[in-house]
Amino acid sequence: MTSACSVRVRGVVQGVGFRPFVFRLARAHTLAGWVANREDGVEIHVQGSDRALETFLRDLKDQRPPAARITAIDVRQDELSDLRDFTIRESPRSGRPSTRIVPDLAVCDDCVAELLDPHDRRYGYPYINCTNCGPRYTIIQGLPYDRPNTTMRSWPLDEACAAEYHDPGNRRFHAQPVACRHCGPGYELVPSSERMRDSEASIRRGAQLLVDGRILAVKGLGGYHLACDATNARSVSALRERKYRKDKPFALMVRDLDVAHALVELSPEAESLLCSTARPIVLAPARPSVNLVGVAPDSDQLGLMLPYTPLHHLLFVAGAPGALVLTSANRSSEPIAYEDDDARERLEGLADAFLVGDRPIARRVDDSVARVGACGPVILRRARGYAPGAVAVIPIDRPVLAVGGDLKNTVTLVVEGQAFVGQHIGDLDDAQCLRAFRETIADLTSMYEIDWDELLVVHDAHPEYASTLAALAFPARETVAVQHHRAHIASVVAERGAWDTRVLGVAFDGTGYGDDGAIWGGELFAGSVRNGFERVAHLRRAALPGGDAAAKHPVQAAAGFLVQLEGLPDLCAAPFDFPRRYVDAVRLVERGVRTFATTSMGRLFDAAAALVGFIREVTFEGQAAIWLEQRARRATPVEAYPFPFDGEELDFRPLLAAVIEDRQRGRDQGEIARAFQRGVARGLVDAATSLCGTHALDTVVLSGGVFQNELLLRDASDALGLSGLQLWTNHEVPPNDGGLSLGQAAMAALGPGDRRA
Ligand code: ZN
Ligand code: FE
Repeated sequence: MTSACSVRVRGVVQGVGFRPFVFRLARAHTLAGWVANREDGVEIHVQGSDRALETFLRDLKDQRPPAARITAIDVRQDELSDLRDFTIRESPRSGRPSTRIVPDLAVCDDCVAELLDPHDRRYGYPYINCTNCGPRYTIIQGLPYDRPNTTMRSWPLDEACAAEYHDPGNRRFHAQPVACRHCGPGYELVPSSERMRDSEASIRRGAQLLVDGRILAVKGLGGYHLACDATNARSVSALRERKYRKDKPFALMVRDLDVAHALVELSPEAESLLCSTARPIVLAPARPSVNLVGVAPDSDQLGLMLPYTPLHHLLFVAGAPGALVLTSANRSSEPIAYEDDDARERLEGLADAFLVGDRPIARRVDDSVARVGACGPVILRRARGYAPGAVAVIPIDRPVLAVGGDLKNTVTLVVEGQAFVGQHIGDLDDAQCLRAFRETIADLTSMYEIDWDELLVVHDAHPEYASTLAALAFPARETVAVQHHRAHIASVVAERGAWDTRVLGVAFDGTGYGDDGAIWGGELFAGSVRNGFERVAHLRRAALPGGDAAAKHPVQAAAGFLVQLEGLPDLCAAPFDFPRRYVDAVRLVERGVRTFATTSMGRLFDAAAALVGFIREVTFEGQAAIWLEQRARRATPVEAYPFPFDGEELDFRPLLAAVIEDRQRGRDQGEIARAFQRGVARGLVDAATSLCGTHALDTVVLSGGVFQNELLLRDASDALGLSGLQLWTNHEVPPNDGGLSLGQAAMAALGPGDRRA
C-alpha cells in the first residue's frame, strides 16, 4: 500500500540541521516528497509504503539532530502527488524574515571525532563544524542565514568544502560556516617570536604557556576569554589582580567529564545540563577534598563548563592543564571584549599572550550560567547557547521590545508572537555596557526588520533607570512602564504561557521601584498576567539609609532594620564589631536624612549577614547573601526563627532579634544562618498558604534575585509541597533581573490597560 502524509514539526527545528536530517531519513526509507521551513517550524510531505512511512515517523522523533527541540509533531493523511524523489525546498523570502536567529551550538561529537583523527581532512582544524554544530548567532550579520550574511563571507569555499556544502546527503549540506585548513580562517599566537602563523604550532605554544603558569587571552565564540591553570594559585591571584576582581568566583573549563567529576558532585541532571549543546557553566557543589586556591573564595560551589569549540578541545589535546580558569576578558564590570583591536588594547597588560582566531565575531555573547536546583534546572545567566532563542509565545500581533532593568540587563523582542530573549548584557551603570545595550537593541530590531512606528516599547517603572531613559528616547510611538516585581512574577508565568491562571506571586528581590516610589523587594501579589497583579502583602517596611549605596554595605542596610528593634546591644562591640559606618547610618535614619522606605528582602538578608559576621563591603551584587547561604549550608538542620505573618506584613523584628540573641550566646554562625533562612522560608510559606486561602488560589509563583538562594528555595518548596499548593519557578530565564524583560513583554502585551495595576 502506498500512501502520503503531511507532517508539521514545531519547536527549535530551524538552523539546527533539521531539513538535511529529514532528507537523509526520507532517502534511507526510500520515500518521496519534500521538506521546507515554515513560519512556525518545518513542514514535510512524504509518500511511500505504509511500512516505510511508519518507521520514518518513528525515527523522526527518536533520531532528531542533537540541537533540535521538538515541541509538537502533527501528522495528517495527504493526497499522493506525482513525486519520484525527496527534495529540500527553499523557503521563499516573504515580507519580514521568518527565519529565526539560532543560538550558537557546541561542536558535536562527529566533528570532534574528525578533529582528532589524523587521517581526516580537518584533523586539528580549529574551525571545524557541521549542520549540527558550530557558530550561529555570533557570526550572523543579516538574515536569511546564508554564508554571504555571515562573518565567513571573506573565505570562499574550496572545491572539497563546496562539494560537501552542496551535497544534501552530507553532514555539511548548507552548513554556512563550513571551512577547512586550505580555504578557511586559522589561529595565530601573538606576540610570536617564531613562525606562529600556523594554527597547530600556535595552539601548542598556547597550551605550553598555560602549563607554565601564564595568562592567555583566547578568542572564543562570543568574545575573548582569559585563561590560566586553575591549580596554580599564583596565576589565579595574578589574574584577579590584573582583572581588578576581588572575590567574585571564576568559572572553570575542564578537559572532560572525568575532570568534572573529580572536582564537583554532579547529579545526572546536572551532568546532562553540562553536556547539553548550549554547554553552559554549571554550578555544582565542590568535592570537600578540592582546594583550588583563589578560584571561588568563600564558596563551596564551583562553576564548570566543558570545551565547546574545536579550539578548546585542541588546547587540551595539546597538553593544557585539565582545569582552566576561563573568565570573560574584561576588567571588572566591563562587557566582554570581542573585537580584535579592542581586545588587544583593553587586555594589554592583562594577558601574557593572545591566541587570536581570524574569524570575526559578529557580536559579543558571554558564557551562560545554569544550575540544577531544588525545582529543576534554571538558567541564571542567559547568553551563549540560549540567546537569542524564543522562550515563549506571547499572543500579540504587533512587535514588542522590552528593555529589562539596569542590573544584569537583557532585552526581549517579540516578533509575530515569538518572544526572543537576548543575551546577558551586564549592569548599565557601566558606560560600555550601556553601549552594548543600545547595540543589542539596534542589532535585533534591524535583523528582524522592526518598524519603530509599530513597536510597543516596555521599560521598568523606575523613572531614573538608564534603561527607562533610553526607552523613552527611542523613536517608538508608544511606551509603557511595568512595575519591577510584577515583571518578575510574569516572567515565570510567561515560560508556561498561563496568561489567565490566577496565582499568588512572591517576589523576593534586592531592589525595584514600587508603586509608591519606595524601594520594594519583599512583595506578595494575587492575580494573573491578563488581569494584573494586586499587591496583597509585603515585608514590614524598613528604612534604607543612603539609598542604593546601602546595597554595598551590609551594616548600612542593617541600620535601617535594626532601629525598629528594642533593647539592642552595642553592635560596635564584640561579637558584632560593626564599623563606624553603622553608627553613621543609624544617625541618618534617626534624622530622616537621605533615607528611603524599603520592603527589600535582599536588604534583610544583608542585615542578617552583617549580624552573623559579614561586616565588610561587598564587591559584587548578592555577595553577603551568598556568604550567608554558604554558612547555612554547612550547618546541620536546625529550627526556624520566628518570622510572623499578620495577613498583610511579614514582621522581621522577631527574626533579627533571634539572630542577635543567639550571636550573643555564642551559637555557631552556621546554625544561626541556617535558622534565619529556615525562618524566612517558613514565613514565606505561612504567608503564601494564608493568602492562597483568602484569595482562593492554588498556585504559588516564586521569583526575584533572592530565589537564587538554593537553600531557601529548597526549604520553601519542601514546605509548599506539604501544603498541597503548586509551585512555579523560573527555568528558561533567570529569577534575577536577567528575566525581567520577558515578564515586562508579557505584562505589556497581555496585561490590563493600566499596566502598573
Ligand atoms: Zn559538527
Ligand atoms: Fe529584581
